[in-house]
Parts: sequence; C-alpha cells; structure tokens
Amino acid sequence: PTPLHGKVALVTGGSRGIGAATALRLARDGADVAVTYVNGKEEAEDVVRRVGALGRRALAVRSDAADAGEAADAVDRVARHFGTLDVLVNNAGVGAVGPLDGPTLADVDRVLAVNVRGVFLTTRAAAARMERGGRIVTIGSCLAQRVPAPGATLYAMSKSALVGLTKALARELGPRGITANVVHPGPIDTDMNPADGPFADGQAAVTALGRFGTADEVAGLVAYLASADYVTGAEFAVDGGYAA
Ligand code: NDP
Repeated sequence: PTPLHGKVALVTGGSRGIGAATALRLARDGADVAVTYVNGKEEAEDVVRRVGALGRRALAVRSDAADAGEAADAVDRVARHFGTLDVLVNNAGVGAVGPLDGPTLADVDRVLAVNVRGVFLTTRAAAARMERGGRIVTIGSCLAQRVPAPGATLYAMSKSALVGLTKALARELGPRGITANVVHPGPIDTDMNPADGPFADGQAAVTALGRFGTADEVAGLVAYLASADYVTGAEFAVDGGYAA
C-alpha cells in the first residue's frame, strides 16, 4: 500500500506551482486531496481532475488566506467533505522583494496576513480537527535561513515566523501524536520565481548546485514529512545548497 493510503490532505494555494505539485504527489502516495486557491479556479479544477485520474478523491475550495474567516472555514469545509483531515500543507504564500522603504503599510499587512496570520489560523483550525497521526508541513523559505543579498526584509521576516510557529506547534501537538515541520525551498521555478526571470541568475549562483529546483523536488520532501512518524519541530532545506 502507498504511504498515505486512506489519508486526507489539504494543500493551501494548490492551484499552481509548489502547491499543485504537492497535491499531485500526495495523491500519488495515496491521499485524497483538497486544494485552496483564490484566482486560479480553472487551474485548481485541473488539479482536481488530475488527482481524480489517479483514483483519489479531490476538492477545490476558493479561500483567501488573507481573510481570517475564509482561512478557517476552508478547513471546516474540507473536513466535512471528506469526514476527516490528516495532513495540512501550509503552502499559500505571496512574494515580496524590494528595499526596506518600498512596501506601503497595506503591502506589509497583506504579506503578513497571507504568509503568517493565514498560516496560524489555518493550522489552528486543522489541529482542532486532527487525530493522532496528524501531520502539518509548512512551506517556509531559504530566506528564513540565509539572506545573501538586500531586498528581502518583509518576505524573510514573514517566512522566519513560520520557524517559531513550527517549533512551538511541535511542543503543543506532540502529546497528541501530531507532528509539525517546516520546509525551506530554495529558488524554485514557478510563476512566483521563474527560472528565466530577471533575478534568476543571481539566485542560481548562490546555490551549491548552480540551478533552480523544481516544484516536484519540493513536493518529494513534503510527501516524506507527511508520512514520517518520528520527525517533528524541524527545519528542512530543499534548496540546492543555498543555505550552505
Ligand atoms: P506561485 O505564485 O507559483 O503559486 C502560489 C499559489 O498560492 C497559487 O496556487 C495561488 O493561488 C496561491 N495563493 C496565493 N495567494 C493566496 C491566498 N491569499 N490565499 C490562498 N491561496 C493563495 O508560488 P510558489 O509555488 O512559487 O510558492 C509556494 C510557496 O512556496 C509560497 O509560500 C512561497 O512563498 C514559497 N516559496 C517559493 C519559492 C520559489 O522560489 N518559488 C522559494 C521559497 C519559498 P491562485 O491560483 O489563487 O493565484
């Protein structure tokens, strides 16, 4: 049997990029999968179709992680639909690059609402539903471990918050047999950070392997953590050596 057979997973921001690759990987490992999205309805429905083609149940839920009510409501809808929730992948996130004096107050609030507050609220709602064996995997960033160039203050701050959240969650939920870990991707070729974008060469040069990674390479590590038993409160880089 596949490692996640009979499990139900929710991947936030699963319409594109790392989230979509993770949804498909978890389905291949045997899980039924729900994804949230905001704008990418068709892309999310395509992920649902592809999960279905793997013989697993799937659901797409429109839910803006920046909206406190919607973030928690998505968890409840998924748990009601499938009858349970075993795996949460906190993947929804927004990028932010530029100098310290760049972001407006609204920009700061938006990035923190999606990358931090939404993760907290989604996780809290999911933890309330999870039973022993529950798994929480949060997508951080290599910029939470190493910042090799200027222009990352807001984004690095938001992603670093997820390290503290993960360690504290591990302590809080460990007695219930639920694990929490954070995955730090390096430069990964997605819409957010295309491998042919204006900042791509500089990022690839910081890695030890000299290249961007793929969403599937991140999904493989997430899938491992979704089924591992004795791994919690830990940070994992899948960054081509960016932090080395
Ligand atoms: P993409 O921009 O390619 O995809 C983002 C996904 O998140 C989409 O499915 C999008 O849905 C969804 N999303 C965006 N905002 C919200 C929101 N407010 N509520 C719900 N869903 C939302 O990003 P990546 O796949 O590159 O990034 C995924 C995660 O990985 C992010 O947390 C990012 O910070 C992190 N990361 C990425 C790196 C990279 O180099 N690519 C490096 C390190 C970390 P919609 O269809 O609605 O747009």
